[in-house]
Amino acid sequence: MKLARFNDDRLGLVLGNELVDVTQVLTHLPRACYPFPRHDVFIEHLAFLRPFIEQLAGNSTRYRLEEVSLLSPVGNPGKVVAAPVNYKRHLEEVLAQREIHHGNLIQEIQKAGLFLKASSSVIGCGQAIELVHTDRRNDHEIELAVVIGSTCRRVLAQDALAHVAGYCIGLDITLRGPEERSLRKSPDTYTVLGPFLVSADELSDPSHLDFSLHVGPDLRQQANTSELILGVPELIAFASSFYTLHPGDVLLTGTPQGVGPIAAGDVLHARIDGIGAMSVRVSA
Ligand code: MN
Repeated sequence: MKLARFNDDRLGLVLGNELVDVTQVLTHLPRACYPFPRHDVFIEHLAFLRPFIEQLAGNSTRYRLEEVSLLSPVGNPGKVVAAPVNYKRHLEEVLAQREIHHGNLIQEIQKAGLFLKASSSVIGCGQAIELVHTDRRNDHEIELAVVIGSTCRRVLAQDALAHVAGYCIGLDITLRGPEERSLRKSPDTYTVLGPFLVSADELSDPSHLDFSLHVGPDLRQQANTSELILGVPELIAFASSFYTLHPGDVLLTGTPQGVGPIAAGDVLHARIDGIGAMSVRVSA
């Protein structure tokens, strides 16, 4: 199942090049009162909602995908966990270029660990990336994004994929400079998720996906998730050995070689096989 959020917080079921408005199923979600849950209640109840979504899909308003504005498929991610250097050839390019590493200590992921991006940085592909500090280099990073489906803590890698709700494309936009990663990667709009959530049953093996990123016509990044140092199960095990993962938490798995600068006016075209493709505008 492919699920999108669009326009003014509508929910859509994606069918080919179309989308069916199934927002009405959200009335089945439990009522929340203060203090509101910090995880994503829709993702938490996805399995429960699926039959209602399928039932409604037959006789509801349809749109062509290109006529809607896509929001982040996760409306309320509690945290965005990100892998810093999780492709060997990206590690090599970072170490080789001072304008990327800025004298920061760069280590392989087993030593560097993970970092967090502010959940307020998340947008969908229908929104624009708004660059800050444009006197400095801002880079694109395409990554496979994993959306956690159920609460897990200290999960073993062999059990980890059972806790995945689905996958989407992630763009980890990065201001280069000497500060902590979490600061440079957390400005508003610096985490793009999209185009929609592909449920885990549609993508049973995330470990062999070709993916690419173009800036305008120029191919910048091209790799396969088989080149990940820590794969999706290992990343979930690693992250959950430090903190509980909740439904709607997003795991950005790391970017491969080919990172490079973006500027206002650019359009990024990202695709991951088995998920889809999205284009995102860059403004200043
Ligand atoms: Mn990254």
